[in-house]
Amino acid sequence: NCFADFQLPSSLVERLAQLEYKTPTPVQQQAIPAMLSGKDLLVGANTGSGKTAAFALPIITRHITGELTNGKSCQPQGKGNLVSTLVLVPTRELAKQVADNFVAYAQNLERKIKVVCVFGGVSANPQMLALRGGADVVVATPGRLLDLVSSNALKLDKVKHLILDEADRLLSLGFTDELGNILKLLPKTKQTGLFSATFPDEVIALANSLLNEPTTLFL
Ligand code: AMP
Repeated sequence: NCFADFQLPSSLVERLAQLEYKTPTPVQQQAIPAMLSGKDLLVGANTGSGKTAAFALPIITRHITGELTNGKSCQPQGKGNLVSTLVLVPTRELAKQVADNFVAYAQNLERKIKVVCVFGGVSANPQMLALRGGADVVVATPGRLLDLVSSNALKLDKVKHLILDEADRLLSLGFTDELGNILKLLPKTKQTGLFSATFPDEVIALANSLLNEPTTLFL
């Protein structure tokens, strides 16, 4: 019942000990092995449940080992502002929080993981600069993400991991159209995790259309 029990790199387990993460939370307990196995995931979990680490740790592991969910090795990222992991969130506060968590977990690992956070309400220029040469992980609110795609600041056609965080709020805050437009730009083959606190009909419809034989966890 500790992080060393998962198939995580030992450097990452050591980093978690530094952060004083001792015991995995229930959502981490179940979601981490499922994510590491490459399966799609549907998770009912609240804020404070530890859901960020539940998806971030397996994604960081993939980036370190260079292994894709299909077992093929990761090609080094070429030019073209490609993004490997996309995390969609409803608010800028959550975007910052999730990006900060990725950065904290990925500190001092054997491979550098580039995390870029994009959200609206501020100038797009620094975000465009940060995206030059691509990113391993982009944490984004939907509207700004689409603006940046339109201006060729990033490309989504090589995304391997997609996370929808607080999917119920993504839909209730009116991002349904943006979400649909983003999903159209993503490759068909990818690993998707959908996290939501509540499951109204539109979240269930989204999960049904997006997820492929998901592992379902309600905690
Ligand atoms: P989250 O639900 O992802 O927003 O996480 C809630 C808070 O719990 C954050 O401040 C995390 O840093 C912290 N946290 C997450 N998992 C653990 C863990 N296994 N042990 C200790 N703290 C944790």
